[in-house]
Amino acid sequence: MAYTNKVFRFGNFSFWFWILFIYILAALIWWFISLERQSGDMSSLKLQLLNKNDPQYFAQQREVLQFKTRQSAKFIGEGLTFLALIVTGAVFVYRSIRKQIEVSSLQQNFMMAITHELKTPIATTRLSLETVLRRKLDEVQQQKLLLSALSETNRLNILTNNILLASQMEEKNFQRENEQINLADMVETVVSDYKNRFPQRRIEASADKDLYIDGDELLVQIALSNLIDNALKYAPKESPVYVDLMEDNDYTQIKVSDEGPGVPDEEKQKIFQKFYRSGSEYTRKAKGTGLGLYLTKKIIEDHNGDIFVMNNTPRGSIFVIQF
Ligand code: ADP
Repeated sequence: MAYTNKVFRFGNFSFWFWILFIYILAALIWWFISLERQSGDMSSLKLQLLNKNDPQYFAQQREVLQFKTRQSAKFIGEGLTFLALIVTGAVFVYRSIRKQIEVSSLQQNFMMAITHELKTPIATTRLSLETVLRRKLDEVQQQKLLLSALSETNRLNILTNNILLASQMEEKNFQRENEQINLADMVETVVSDYKNRFPQRRIEASADKDLYIDGDELLVQIALSNLIDNALKYAPKESPVYVDLMEDNDYTQIKVSDEGPGVPDEEKQKIFQKFYRSGSEYTRKAKGTGLGLYLTKKIIEDHNGDIFVMNNTPRGSIFVIQF
């Protein structure tokens, strides 16, 4: 609904905008034509009043015609100035309203996503726990249900952390730790945590050597976790995910590569915007809120770093964190 709503609302605005714009242009053209006509009528009246026998007749006639030409030039000048002002104003209004509609649509998508993201884990956890309580299950089944409840609460935990952190980091006086981080150790820890959580997935880490930066280890871990989360979420289950730490041209880089659908060129910047998700809540199958990459970028920039996405070959994407 959010997507069609957006199209409808933007289409609606576009329709009235162009009607108004065309009306204003038509009014301007009409104003020009009527002034030209008036000036033409006045000139021919003046010419009629001239006395042909007057020795000054030709000089007076020339003066009337010159006056008419000057008037026309004045109307054209004024008309073009108005036109430039109208077009500038229209471009400004069009852009700002389009931006506003986009933002409100992103927020609407976020509200739908978050409602869904909160409700699903709560409902699943509740169902698992109720089943364990009410039924006499063997230990293996119990274990399975409890593990499922645990993984759902983990998801909830990550989601609430992301939301809280995003709003904390937006505050002006946000303070973070500043310690020395051994990136090779950190990559190793994060990747082995993912290997434990997703034993069926192939996740491989590699590190050139011990590389260090100063910063908040927990935050950088969250940033890296968001990238690995996405790689696992968007790429097919049987495809591998690589996490590589390396030094390249004086930059320390962490690359997360997957063999998923990749990110289209026109979305390579947009995906880092707050609440941005490709497609609509209805066409999108993967879970999410559009906060992960926004938060990741914020964390990396807060550490004087940069983050961007490239195409992987033959398919997929490579997210690069660069310090
Ligand atoms: P979420 O995953 O919750 O939607 P993110 O901010 O993490 O939010 O990602 C924003 C969008 O970027 C996603 O909706 C998805 O379309 C795209 N994206 C992120 N990571 C990948 C990836 N590894 N492969 C393909 N698309 C991705």
